Amino acid sequence: MPTITKNGKAPVKTAKLQQFIAGKWRDGTGKRRVSSTSPTDSRIVLAEGPGGCKEDALAAIAAAYAAFPAWKATPAPARARVLDKVVKLARERKEELGRILAQEEGKILPEALGELEKGINLLEWYAGEGLRFMGDTAPSELPKNLLFTIREPLGPVSIITPWNFPWAIPCWKMAPALVAGNTVVFKPASNTPLLAQELVKLFEEAGLPAGVLNIVVGAGSEIGDVLVEDERIQAVSFTGSNEIGVRVHTICGKRGIKVTCEMGGKNPAIVWDDADLDLALAGVLKGAFGSTGQRCTATSRLIVQEKVYDEFVGKVVDAAKKMKLGDPLDASTNMGPAVDEGQLEVDLQAIATAKKEGARLLCGGERPMKDGLQHGWFVEPTVFDQVTPTMNLWKEEVFGPVLAVVRVKTYEEAVKAANDTRFGLTCAFYTQDITLAMRYVEDAEVGMVHINSPTIGGEAQVPFGGVKGSGVGDREMAKDGINFFSKPKTVFLDYTGQKRTSNIY
Ligand code: NAD
Repeated sequence: MPTITKNGKAPVKTAKLQQFIAGKWRDGTGKRRVSSTSPTDSRIVLAEGPGGCKEDALAAIAAAYAAFPAWKATPAPARARVLDKVVKLARERKEELGRILAQEEGKILPEALGELEKGINLLEWYAGEGLRFMGDTAPSELPKNLLFTIREPLGPVSIITPWNFPWAIPCWKMAPALVAGNTVVFKPASNTPLLAQELVKLFEEAGLPAGVLNIVVGAGSEIGDVLVEDERIQAVSFTGSNEIGVRVHTICGKRGIKVTCEMGGKNPAIVWDDADLDLALAGVLKGAFGSTGQRCTATSRLIVQEKVYDEFVGKVVDAAKKMKLGDPLDASTNMGPAVDEGQLEVDLQAIATAKKEGARLLCGGERPMKDGLQHGWFVEPTVFDQVTPTMNLWKEEVFGPVLAVVRVKTYEEAVKAANDTRFGLTCAFYTQDITLAMRYVEDAEVGMVHINSPTIGGEAQVPFGGVKGSGVGDREMAKDGINFFSKPKTVFLDYTGQKRTSNIY
């Protein structure tokens, strides 16, 4: 375990980053080093080591390939018991892992602990699925003929994850993959490798056999391409940007293997004139500025009915101005930094473009440069109104704490505005009118609808994912995760013991 003891002001011992291949931790053989630096204070290096490269990715695939037959043959309940042990270990170390998450990714500690718990819930839920890894039986057209299906794993699979949920997303992919009997090569995002390494260590400690789970840390495209193109890989589960997701999907399509890509969002929250405005305010603030806006499910567009527009938008702006930026480990901090310099630049560029295109800046918009914040990648919570559908801020995902607000009069206008996007991940509708709420449930072009709750969140037992440009392939979580990582085999068992006269086949 790395000894990251305190916040940015205290000395931090740099942890070592390595690759875990065929059950052994070893240095990457790439030319470039990989490092994890604190987004709160970029002078602090949390972890570093020699980076993985193409050869390491190939070695990891070979290990997963070799380990597959024995893991497939391990009974599903026994596979699930490894997950049970990981749950126990993760619960024991939750506080310590949450601190690593907050320091490495930058979300505030309560949010980091929430993410830890969510990942643990997912591991727990899928451990239960080990006892339910079953097929179906069906009545046959013929007498004395049993039709049934069994489920089988796919083989070695690749899991490629982003930095914004460095614990929960790997958990929600690994858990169904492993319990269904696949072996895994895991590539975490290059800027959050430390927590990914800690997660793999928990599986090692829980007794997962060598080669069943491997991790390669290094440059995204070099390793990513190998993990998608190698003919031994039988499926890819990817979460990240649209640009890379579409590329991954295309390659897998050509190869004819299963692929699921969860990608970006431009999620709207509608606040209707009869809404409980305090409830809506809490939800919009959490959705827009929680985790520094770095959620695929973040609220990035706010659509407000004109009767409550001035009052509600005023409340949002007042609250945003009061938010305290700072160290994610400090209990008084409301919002942490952007994950790295590149993301900060994306945020600032989106703000500059919105100004240029004529949106009205209501608050924020700056990078704070005093009180120690200048050492990190901070950006103020930002609200624009007078945003039009042709503006970049309306169309493109920022992945930062930047909210675009529009005023509407009718329900039809609100739905048109909400659906006016190439994305379709999630949305929220605040109203007291259940009839209107259910009408919106039907009209929303998304994978997930929230009524009177923020656009964010998901639970292990229900599918997670989007439509349009937000996702292709099977949904994740719930049974959908197991279905993605397994395939049915149909069995026709004829027990007549004699030749049939029927010509039904
Ligand atoms: P990204 O697309 O830059 O990277 C995602 C992963 O792909 C990383 O591990 C990266 O190293 C890897 N990668 C890079 N090049 C690759 C290649 N050529 N082949 C294969 N893999 C490659 O995304 P990011 O910046 O880490 O994350 C932010 C994005 O993720 C946002 O767009 C966000 O909306 C999205 N996201 C979506 C969901 C969802 O469930 N829909 C959840 C979280 C994040």
